[in-house]
Amino acid sequence: MKRIAILTSGGDAPGMNAAVRAAVRCGIDRGMEVYGIQRGYEGLLDGEISKMEWHSVGDILQRGGTILRTARSSRFMEDEWVQHGAEILKTFGIEGLIVIGGDGSYRGGRELAKKGITVMGVPGTIDNDLAYTDFTIGFDTAVNTVLGLISNIRDTSSSHERTTIIEVMGRKCGDLALFAGLAGGADVILVPEVKTDINEVCRKVLQGQASGKVHSIIVMAEGADFSLTELQATLEEMTGRETRSVVPGYIQRGGSPTSQDRLLASQTAAKAVELLYNDSDSKAVGSICGEIVAMDLDKAIETKGEFRKDLYDLAEVLGKGVID
Ligand code: ATP
Repeated sequence: MKRIAILTSGGDAPGMNAAVRAAVRCGIDRGMEVYGIQRGYEGLLDGEISKMEWHSVGDILQRGGTILRTARSSRFMEDEWVQHGAEILKTFGIEGLIVIGGDGSYRGGRELAKKGITVMGVPGTIDNDLAYTDFTIGFDTAVNTVLGLISNIRDTSSSHERTTIIEVMGRKCGDLALFAGLAGGADVILVPEVKTDINEVCRKVLQGQASGKVHSIIVMAEGADFSLTELQATLEEMTGRETRSVVPGYIQRGGSPTSQDRLLASQTAAKAVELLYNDSDSKAVGSICGEIVAMDLDKAIETKGEFRKDLYDLAEVLGKGVID
């Protein structure tokens, strides 16, 4: 394969730029021509495609976001537009496409693959909701961002003897809440994967208070069982302690990528280029137990996630209020 393209799609994630950089440079190093597509599938349909050079991706490794920009394209959800996208790629002589994004972007890629384009999925999302890979690009940075917020909130929560609920992103995946909550010493972690009764949350906070905790931190995933306002009001009523809530929102998406995300991005993008160079079928590239792996794109999309119950159970033990 001589001519390939790259796009970033769905929510932006720190480390996407590192993946773009690696894909461009590894492609050029193998003697391929590499094209960049602006604004994901939306830009593809508008023909926003240009050739990238070694220096086009200079000084971006450390930057969050994506220099290719990203978008959600409703047009691309329709078959005739997917066909149009495939035809545009063929007009440019592009045979292989690297899609850096989440599961929706992979589904779009799968549709393109049906039209004769070889698609390599590179996992770029802070949600860590692609089950075929242990980690997605951007997740580690987001965990560290939330961790910083928990640390700051801990200071003010303990000074004012408050309960604070932090609602974090992740869509239907609780990993961001789980990893940041465990690392940040949250008293309670609420995730969509574990059904929780609101009274049980109150009981845990009350037990913490009885054991002498002057404040409580609850990390709640956005997909958890109840709403932030419902939980806040119930906690305040049942515990008698002032309860505040914080929604960091898009702050979690930004920032310079951590070394872990830069390494994952560089390695997975390099693998995607290698696969295209070797005329492989469409695949999704990821990391399992530290090894870079490639799986059939369709199989990767259909892989069901296994929740890290071991980490959840550990967080429960470490966060509970115990009376000595
Ligand atoms: P994130 O996890 O960060 O939200 P994502 O890749 O899952 O990223 P989506 O908005 O779900 O983000 O998908 C990105 C784009 O992929 C959509 O806007 C759409 O253009 C395309 N897409 C998603 N599903 C399909 C599908 N079934 N067929 C064609 N295109 C799709």
